[in-house]
Amino acid sequence: AIKQPDYIWFNGKVIHWHDAKVHVLSHAIHYGSSVFEGIRCYETDDGVAIFRLQDHIRRLYDSAKIYRMELPFAASTLEQACRDVIVENRLSASYIRPVAFRGYNSIGVLPFDNPVEVAVAAFEWGAYLGEDSLAQGVDVAVSSWNRAAPNTIPTAAKAGGNYLSSQLVVEEAKRHGYAEGIALDTNGYISEGSGENIFVVRNGTLYTPPATAAILPGLTRDTIMTLAEESGWKVVECNIAREALYLADEVFMTGTAAEIVPVRSVDGQIVGAGCRGPITEQLQQLFFGLFNGKTQDQWGWLEHIYHV
Ligand code: PMP
Repeated sequence: AIKQPDYIWFNGKVIHWHDAKVHVLSHAIHYGSSVFEGIRCYETDDGVAIFRLQDHIRRLYDSAKIYRMELPFAASTLEQACRDVIVENRLSASYIRPVAFRGYNSIGVLPFDNPVEVAVAAFEWGAYLGEDSLAQGVDVAVSSWNRAAPNTIPTAAKAGGNYLSSQLVVEEAKRHGYAEGIALDTNGYISEGSGENIFVVRNGTLYTPPATAAILPGLTRDTIMTLAEESGWKVVECNIAREALYLADEVFMTGTAAEIVPVRSVDGQIVGAGCRGPITEQLQQLFFGLFNGKTQDQWGWLEHIYHV
């Protein structure tokens, strides 16, 4: 359960957490018409810092544009809302969840005069795949569910409805005792986890599925590609066959909530040495180094907002 903070930003105002309510006939509840983001902020020596805030808000607008959903606020207002929910709740390391959705008016599929409502919540949220996942790695399985085919549900949008697919993938994986499922795209190539992108390492080269493989273009994926190239590793975006997971030296998953998680087995096949690999560990150190000061933030990814 969420450790409930006191306040939430809702339609332009900071209000009490429990007062952020919607009608049950809101369009989004029936038809999945919401777009959202997941953003982390970290405690650093220079205070609490939000990671890639502008990039996340831009992706929120991208998701909305795909669905021709006009957001009734400027990007700068939503960025400020993200800062406000952290500061108002006196939060340090936490997770920020902006969500925009079609609200209540008509009940037809075509939202007719339904308002677009926007909320931004923030709360503490530990490692998504468990406290041990970052060091110990996780066991995963290829899902029997594929990701959406091209030109059906656009995976570049981080839309509420897309997470029906994710729910099928992760529920099946957990039911069979795995931490997460890896979905293939409809061509049978590796796509992504229910809430993470995926990387395969072999002979010192990193491989990750391209945007055409029905993935969300993850910002952690982009961050890791940048950090890896910066330290001299080659990164290739290409179609990846299922068996490449079994033959990899290392596999890891990336996501805002999950962070950088080593994969120690896929479908019961041990990956590499069966524990966190050296390149995965180096990339974790570079990533977390952004927040403990060991990696210089030459990209302007961190925005320091306040001292708790
Ligand atoms: N794929 C899916 C389906 C996701 O939900 C997420 C989490 N937002 C990701 C990939 C990773 O994206 P990001 O690194 O931007 O969090």
